Amino acid sequence: MSKELTNQTIPCPNSGCGGLITFNTSELFQGKEISCLKCNSVISLSDESNELVEDAFEKFEAMREKYIENKSNG
Ligand SMILES: [Zn+2]
Repeated sequence: MSKELTNQTIPCPNSGCGGLITFNTSELFQGKEISCLKCNSVISLSDESNELVEDAFEKFEAMREKYIENKSNG
């Protein structure tokens, strides 16, 4: 069983939607926009005011660092 580190899920920033947005971090880092399938809200890295996206990336970075550490230890 392996988890794909590149897939992240964040709650939709659109209040009233309540949907979850699943996105691929590597695609987002490449500048690709992600959108909510429920309400079509669009999120991109250029939207610096989006704290939800920042939070998701902080978690992703922490996960990635752990992953790299584990690899280099082996
Ligand atoms: Zn939405």
